[in-house]
This record gives sequence, C-alpha cells and structure tokens, in this order.
Amino acid sequence: MSEPQQFDVVVIGAGPAGYHAAIRAAQLGLKVACIDAALGKDGKPALGGTCLRVGCIPSKALLDSSRQFWNMGHLFGDHGISFKDAKIDVGAMVGRKDKIVKQFTGGIAMLFKANKVTPFYGFATLHPDRTVKVKQHDGSEVELAGSNVILAAGSDSIELPFAKFDGETIVDNVGALDFTEVPKRLAVIGAGVIGLELGSVWKRLGAEVTVLEALPDFLAAADAEVAKTAAKEFRKQGLDIKLGAKVSKAEVTGKGKKKEVAVTFADKDGEQTITVDKLLVAVGRRAASKGLLAEGTGVKLNERGQIEVDEHCHTGVDGVWAIGDCVRGPMLAHKGFEEGIAVAELIAGLPGHVNFDTIPWVIYTEPEIAWVGRTEQQLKEEGVPYKTGSFPFAAIGRAVAMGEPAGFVKVIAHAETDRVLGLHLVGVGVSELVHEGVLAMEFKGSADDLARICHAHPTLSEAIHDAAMAVDKRAIHKAN
Ligand code: FAD
Ligand code: NAD
Repeated sequence: MSEPQQFDVVVIGAGPAGYHAAIRAAQLGLKVACIDAALGKDGKPALGGTCLRVGCIPSKALLDSSRQFWNMGHLFGDHGISFKDAKIDVGAMVGRKDKIVKQFTGGIAMLFKANKVTPFYGFATLHPDRTVKVKQHDGSEVELAGSNVILAAGSDSIELPFAKFDGETIVDNVGALDFTEVPKRLAVIGAGVIGLELGSVWKRLGAEVTVLEALPDFLAAADAEVAKTAAKEFRKQGLDIKLGAKVSKAEVTGKGKKKEVAVTFADKDGEQTITVDKLLVAVGRRAASKGLLAEGTGVKLNERGQIEVDEHCHTGVDGVWAIGDCVRGPMLAHKGFEEGIAVAELIAGLPGHVNFDTIPWVIYTEPEIAWVGRTEQQLKEEGVPYKTGSFPFAAIGRAVAMGEPAGFVKVIAHAETDRVLGLHLVGVGVSELVHEGVLAMEFKGSADDLARICHAHPTLSEAIHDAAMAVDKRAIHKAN
C-alpha cells in the first residue's frame, strides 16, 4: 500500500455529528476527510447517517403524510370540509419519503464539495497513531493519517434475542419506514420515541397498533403530567398501550403475504399472546463500535459499549475524539451537531462547548411532546425548591381555531430566584415552541422575563406567556 494520505482531521462517520464536525473543521481552514460506509436504498453511498437515511427525516416525512390522512377523517369535518373515499397510496407515500431522503443525503455530498471536505466511501478502522484504514466499496483499501481523528460512528438498533430482525415481519425502524402496505395489525415493543412515532404513523393509516412497554410508567423521562396527557390522547386515537408488559416470545408463522407473528407477553392480566402482521422492535439503540477500533489504539469502551470521552469529547488518546450517538448523552441528532461543532472548534484552538442542560427533547407525535431542562420529578429528587405555572391550549384562541386544543405548557422556575429551570409542553406545534425555553435558560432568564416579553396574538406561543404569568398566579386567561 502507498503512503497514507495526510489530513488535519479525519472524521469516521458522516451522520449529524460527523458531517457537522467535518464541515466546521473545513470552515476553520483545516484539511478534512470524512468516511462513511452507508449505502442508500439505491445501493449508492448515502451521507447523513441514521438521521437522514432511516431516522429523523424519513420518519418525519411519514408522520406528516399520515397526519394529513388522519386529519381528513378526524379534523376536516369540523371545518366543514367533506370528501369521498380518501385513500392512502403507501407506495407513493414511501416514494415521497425516499425522494426527500435522496435530496438531503445528496445535499451533504454537495456541502462537502463546497467546503472542500474529501469524502471516502467505505468502512473505516482506526489503528494506532491515528492511522485510519478504509475498505472502500469497490474492494480497494486506502490509508489515511490524521493529526486528529474524530469517531462519529453512531448507533444501531438493539435486537431482542427472541425477536431477531428479518427485515420483513420483525423489523426495526428501517423496515417500519418501508412497509409496502398498511399492516392490518402491528405490534410495537417499546413505548419510547421510535415506538410512539412510527406506531402513530401506521395507526393513522389504519393499522390496529398494540404497544408493549416493559416499564410500568409511560414516558418516564418526560414530565409526569405531560406523559399522562399524552397517554390519554394516544389512547383516544386508538393506540393500545400496554404498560408493564414483559415480552418473552415472537414466533413467525406462515409464508409470503400470509406471514404473521405471534407475540407472547405477560402483564397485570397474566400471560397473553397476540397475533399481528408486523412486529416493530424499538427498545433503544446502542453505540456502533463493531470493527471501528483495531488492537492497540488505546481508545476505551464503557460497559454500555460507548466510546469513553471526557466533557470535551476527548478519548484520552492524543488527538482522538468521539461524538454523537457512539458516546454518552442523549441519542439526538442536534446533540451530535453541537458536539461536532464543539470538537472542530477545540481542534482549531477555539473554546468549543456543549451545554447538556439545555438540549431540547421532542417527540413528533400528535399531540407533540417537547421539553427542556429539569422535570418536577428530578427537582424533587435533587431537593431544589421550585414553583410552576401551567396553561392549557384549550384556552389559547389560535389552538382552538386550528381545532387542536389538547395539551398544555408548564413553566418551572426556581422558588427563590425565579430562574427558569424547565419548560414542558404537550400540544400542537410544541416542537417549535420549546426553543423559547432553551433561549430563556441559555440567557439565564426568569419566569418573569418570559411573562414580560410581548408575544404576538393570536399565536400558540401565548401559552408560554400565560404559563409564565401563572408561575406568580397572574395569568390573565385562566383562574389562578
Ligand atoms: P449516525 O447518524 O448513526 O451516523 C453514523 C454514521 O457513521 C453512519 O452513516 C454509519 O454508516 C457511519 N459509520 C459507522 N461506523 C463506521 C465505520 N467504521 N466506517 C465508516 N462509516 C461508519 N434524533 C433527533 O434529534 N430528532 C429526531 O426526530 C430523531 N428521529 C429519529 C428517528 C428514528 C427512526 C431513529 C432511528 C433515530 C432518530 N433520531 C432522532 C436519532 C438520530 O438519528 C441520531 O441521534 C443521530 O443520527 C446520531 O448521529 P451520529 O452522527 O452520532 O450517528
Ligand atoms: P427509547 O429509549 O426511546 O425507548 C425504548 C423503550 O423500550 C423504553 O420505553 C424502554 O423501557 C422500552 N423497552 C426496553 N426493553 C424492552 C423490552 N424488552 N420490552 C418492552 N419494552 C422495552 O428507544 P427507541 O424508541 O428505540 O429510540 C432510540 C433512540 O433514538 C432514542 O433514545 C432517541 O434518542 C432517538 N430518537 C429520537 C427521536 C426524536 O428525537 N424525536 C425519534 C426517534 C428516535
């Protein structure tokens, strides 16, 4: 093999974390290579990682298609709109999703070109002394050497030993984004983010959906009142959510179109078996590190298989960094974005930093769920004194005019300083509204600041205004 090609920064993985790191490093004048092994549905290299290929973007495309379809049957009538024979063409819907994916994965290739990031397409392994060997898709091998190497290998779906993915009947997110028809009966293991989002997609299109969650609490990480409201709304939509359900078996029977899967679980009603056409397993993801590290790199994995890093995403090995889903912290694209930028800036000698306290969470169901900061449960555990103010969307003119009155906003502030500690929302459009809380917290704002900022009328954001006023019992549009 010829001499290794030399770069200032070699990034392994072109997902949200990796492509942000690569582009930012290139903007800062560094010579950058970025390697990714993934292929798109057309068998061609596709940059952008899980997020663009089989995660954030395709799931939101299907959520939006299915929401339009659901609204035809459940919202349009109230607006006086009628129609005959609404039908969903699943092929066309999935085709639209694929087109969006292609546009955005291709967009990363264009951004690399514009920023002079050199892409390599193949599987990369880190060797000692920051040498990276890439097995390219054509079978050839190239060797790169980086003054810095950033590991951004992402994550893979966790498989259950008794429910192995077959890509057809028992699937993870990849399969559930590509069903060719609406399954009559769908079971989902795991009432987490993927289970709820993709369960909602197929429910809205007509599937009978049963969600089996092992824990006794629904969405334990969310504010308890938000979780309760969301659960009530999802059940109203017909999602059958079974909590405390321990699944023990999934058996596929039949052939071709007649394939079905018998799922056995035990809950408070004892052991039961349900038979469904498709089973989505969404029980979490684990860091992807298989084949990434050759012997002797010195990079350590923790007991969860994540690459060990300090608060600056440094692995402890000179010039080797790791970011995104393959390290600790929430598995969110925007967390990866921020780590990618921060590490590129640190490499360039700038003060890169990620504030984990203000990373927003969003679940793109209907109603949407979003939060930033601490929940009441967490503050109680930490012994932090706090006060809250809530406001329902049912009293917000804009939400009612839209026919979307479900949900509420809750502001949590420190009992003594009034500083905003958390913003919790469930309702229409809250994926956008949550950033008002992010901003308030980043600027160390108080509930009084939020209450005194002029909010346009009529907008959904008025729910935050009134909730902030309710913290000191001075909301105008409800009894305090
Ligand atoms: P990834 O996106 O996983 O990218 C890693 C890349 O590295 C991959 O392309 C992989 O092929 C490549 N790679 C790995 N190892 C090697 C190697 N050795 N050599 C070469 N290439 C390699 N997050 C949100 O914030 N919002 C959402 O709405 C959202 N929706 C989601 C929906 C679904 C269905 C799923 C599955 C995830 C969703 N996520 C969402 C999570 C989000 O996709 C991830 O947090 C994000 O993609 C992580 O980015 P990353 O760059 O760390 O890793
Ligand atoms: P998750 O951690 O959100 O949810 C997994 C759920 O499965 C949990 O509620 C867990 O208690 C349950 N579970 C685990 N083992 C089980 C078992 N054997 N039987 C029944 N239930 C079981 O994981 P996910 O939904 O797979 O998503 C993975 C990650 O992807 C998430 O952590 C999230 O960070 C990311 N993601 C984010 C978004 C978003 O931001 N909107 C969307 C999708 C995915």
